[in-house]
Amino acid sequence: MIVHICCSVDSWYFLAKLREKRPSEMITGFFYNPNICPRNEYMSRLIDAKRRCDRLKIAFIEGEYDTDSFLLAARGLENEPEKGARCARCFDLRLERTAREGTRLGEKSFSSTLLISPKKDLIQLKAAAQRIAKRYDLEFVFEDFRKNGGTQAAFALAREKEAYFQNYCGCAWALIKQRAAQGRFAAELICPIDGAKTACDLRLEAISERARRENAGETARLYKTKIMEWRLLSGSLIDEGGSPIACDIAPYSASANVKTRLIALSEYAARFEKSAGFVTRRSFADKNDAREALGLSARDITPIFVVEDLPKGVVVASIESALYQEDALICN
Ligand code: SF4
Repeated sequence: MIVHICCSVDSWYFLAKLREKRPSEMITGFFYNPNICPRNEYMSRLIDAKRRCDRLKIAFIEGEYDTDSFLLAARGLENEPEKGARCARCFDLRLERTAREGTRLGEKSFSSTLLISPKKDLIQLKAAAQRIAKRYDLEFVFEDFRKNGGTQAAFALAREKEAYFQNYCGCAWALIKQRAAQGRFAAELICPIDGAKTACDLRLEAISERARRENAGETARLYKTKIMEWRLLSGSLIDEGGSPIACDIAPYSASANVKTRLIALSEYAARFEKSAGFVTRRSFADKNDAREALGLSARDITPIFVVEDLPKGVVVASIESALYQEDALICN
């Protein structure tokens, strides 16, 4: 049997129960999830799903990360809610690819760990899988392991085994909606301009390190931590005549929208007349740290524009940024 694996959390309990119910069945795990965005989140889920299969000595195959296939399948359905028409297409895509892989391997049946996920519509899943099963002349193994406390047991097992718990379903649209409902910003979807590691990068690093150490026969544990993340959403500096002034915006600059005159502090640094904003250039190059160049502490989120020459007269300075706390992981 080939089993589509959506993530590590869902696979711990589902695969154990499947093996318990069908002890003589040879199971192959197939990770095909081009819906997961961004790529480092995809990699975290992939590595941890493989860890699960390794523990059960189940063969593991990674499908293509062909995000274009998912984007095409979901086109026009971006605003659908979870469990809506976009999810139906997402299931079709992933289950069909699984059935194709099963046929290639000469398997007779297929299933999916999606069946244990409490956020998925079982009726929708079953209908999609059965249509595909007919087309590929395969048996779809439908198992409702959620019953009789299965959902709680699945979470408890995943927690005990320190599986990687993702905090959104997978696609960018579901993530944006979920974050908006939480009054938060979908930071995963915007790369920082300063090259800093994101919470998503740190999670992947920790999960990779744990897998590496466990494969070497060592013990390793994951610990949760929090980091502050900053994203620049937009920014500009406009002179008196309305022309833009070429500039960079220093990381960790707070949002600002001011029409102001500059007060020169030195040849290289200036303060905004009306706000706490600063502008500098050569001093930044010397110190490689705009805050230090301006005598500010590292924690100061004063807006800073880095320009070639200090502008003269009135300028309009705008920054829209987001600063928030994110969950990260460390491996120890
Ligand atoms: S919400 Fe989840 S199941 Fe639905 S389309 Fe997005 S990734 Fe797929």
